[in-house]
Amino acid sequence: MLDLVSEPVWIFDIDRKHVHWANKAALQVWSAPTLAELCGRDMGRDMSESVARRLAQYQSDFIAMAASFNEQWTLYPGGKPLSLTVKFSAHRLDDGRMAMLCEARPAAAHTPESLRSVEALLHTAAMISLYGTRGEALYRNPAARASVRTLDEPLAQRIVDPLEHQALLAALQAEGSATRTLAVHTQQGERWHEISARRCRDAVTGQDAMLVSEVDISAIKRTEAHANFLAMHDPLTGLPNRAQVMLRFAEGMQRIRDAGLQAALMFIDLDHFKDINDTLGHAAGDRLLVQVAERLRSAVRTSDLVARLGGDEFLILLVSTDILAEVDVVRTRLAQSVAEPVVLDSGVEVRITPSMGVSLFPQDGQDFETLLRSADLAMYDAKEAGRNGVAFFAPRMSQAVHQRMTLEAELRRALQRQEFELHYQPIVDVPSNRVVGTEALVRWRHPSRGLVMPDAFIPLCESTGLICELGAYVFEQAAHQQVRWREAGHDLLVSVNLSARQFAHPRLLQDMAAALQASGCSASRLQVEITESMLLGRDERVLGLLLEMRAMGMAIALDDFGTGYSNLAYLQRYPISTLKIDRSFIQSIDANRPLAELIVSMSRLMRLAVVAEGVETAEQLAWVAGRGIEHYQGYLFSKAVPVAAFDALLAAHAPA
Ligand code: C2E
Ligand code: MG
Ligand code: MG
Repeated sequence: MLDLVSEPVWIFDIDRKHVHWANKAALQVWSAPTLAELCGRDMGRDMSESVARRLAQYQSDFIAMAASFNEQWTLYPGGKPLSLTVKFSAHRLDDGRMAMLCEARPAAAHTPESLRSVEALLHTAAMISLYGTRGEALYRNPAARASVRTLDEPLAQRIVDPLEHQALLAALQAEGSATRTLAVHTQQGERWHEISARRCRDAVTGQDAMLVSEVDISAIKRTEAHANFLAMHDPLTGLPNRAQVMLRFAEGMQRIRDAGLQAALMFIDLDHFKDINDTLGHAAGDRLLVQVAERLRSAVRTSDLVARLGGDEFLILLVSTDILAEVDVVRTRLAQSVAEPVVLDSGVEVRITPSMGVSLFPQDGQDFETLLRSADLAMYDAKEAGRNGVAFFAPRMSQAVHQRMTLEAELRRALQRQEFELHYQPIVDVPSNRVVGTEALVRWRHPSRGLVMPDAFIPLCESTGLICELGAYVFEQAAHQQVRWREAGHDLLVSVNLSARQFAHPRLLQDMAAALQASGCSASRLQVEITESMLLGRDERVLGLLLEMRAMGMAIALDDFGTGYSNLAYLQRYPISTLKIDRSFIQSIDANRPLAELIVSMSRLMRLAVVAEGVETAEQLAWVAGRGIEHYQGYLFSKAVPVAAFDALLAAHAPA
């Protein structure tokens, strides 16, 4: 019966990929001379992966729900294309396996499937193109047309990298299909597309062809690139981060060795950056870091690597045939460029200097971690040697770190055990040579090392934050001492030094008020000494704290004036009552005469009291007296001494 049906009908054995049975019309369609020949064909041989998958899906659908499907097929009996609409439905074979009954009709009659598939092709965002064997475009769906630069653009011109294009063709040749993520030229510029290509036949000519579908994944690529960038860069400055230097070093290490080159790791830390952060605020600190990053970048060759480790720490990786000469060039350039003043948004001008530590590869370490640690140690050495300098790693430095850690632990213990004591240096009235005040200077009575001077421990106390506790202790002791002297009939103005870090301490004012109350000391007989660097920022918080101290009754002195920015404008904005001219001015009066004179006359105009620091000789005192400076402090009169010795001084200089 079925043989008499004029339309092709056949049964396909999905499992075995063979035609099981076919009617006469079907034999024609398949250009088979006999049924036996057709049934003998291995249909799986030329079957693409996707068709095989689709058939397997049909089979399970037939089993699950007696479904039927329509598909547009193009067959090539005798090389001539024949378009058919084939209806697939379930057919159980005698042995119980599920096969497929295929009924074909000429394609002209549009089925809902064909209409919808055409619609889908027209509206999909996927770009679908059919290319001929020579790469010429045979068909493009609207999405593809909207993307290509010219309609007849061959695939070779669409793919940015010709090598990638060749690799795609090779994969297609070998496997019949290929999927790649490639950069392509589009009307919208270069984009990232995921390209799936498949070998097929052109339904019109029957010739070999290539079906290419593309999806734009630029957004994903961008996110991915951004994530990669973040993993390897410092977000603030855009410089590479530690991870990247580590990677680049590991990659380059062998090459450096093989080429007989040397490398240097320069560890750079900005001096007193913390002060800037504490006083100007973090936003200003960030802007400064960005500036410094630019300067570092422009101080080295493009092949050198500049990275930010975090905070105010930077790293430079240099490679050269003569590494010492190269390091020398770079550090000279850095010392100059970094120290150039930076003008921040608020109009404040700050100057910052770098301390640099250098370790050399291969001699100071074979791996990145060791080199980094060595350079870090060398940097500390540079800082200790007075900052703004460079130091090369030496093995003894490893011991120094150990010492620093021991010192920190010792300092904490010293605070608990009250090993700190105050010495007092007289502040003398110039015309009468009488002691009118005193500066409290802290010393550490070390159980084995004896008396340790503040320069040996204050910096570490500042960097560890211990200064807040130590400062509170000093203030309290000084207040008590002031009262003892007052009770002995000496009404001295007692001066106490404050570090920038203490200004960031939330309990600063509370602690001061408590000490005044506990001692019964009048605030008006205490003076705090601050340095100019704390005022740099025109920070409202610092100003607020100083105003409150003034309101409590304390006087405020600007210490070491002349060593920093010597910005007289600060004096107007801040409630400062006294200027202490740094001893470097007093001791090299000749060199600094014009500036020293200017400072003195300005302070007079601004009605500030002036104290000359570090007066050691009679000549220096004569100059001080000649300028009309009212107070001085210095070895000429006395060093800082313990309370008992101070009492003796007071007695010796008591008015007759
Ligand atoms: P400073 O506040 O400028 O103190 C003056 C320093 O100059 C003292 O050194 C003093 O002994 C020294 N000096 C005084 N007269 C002369 C002189 O005629 N010639 C010379 N060459 N030096 C003189 P000292 O006691 O070693 O203190 C050094 C620094 O340590 C102080 O400088 C101050 O910045 C800091 N410091 C001392 N005590 C404290 C403290 O309790 N808290 C804080 N935050 N810092 C302190
Ligand atoms: Mg001082
Ligand atoms: Mg001073």
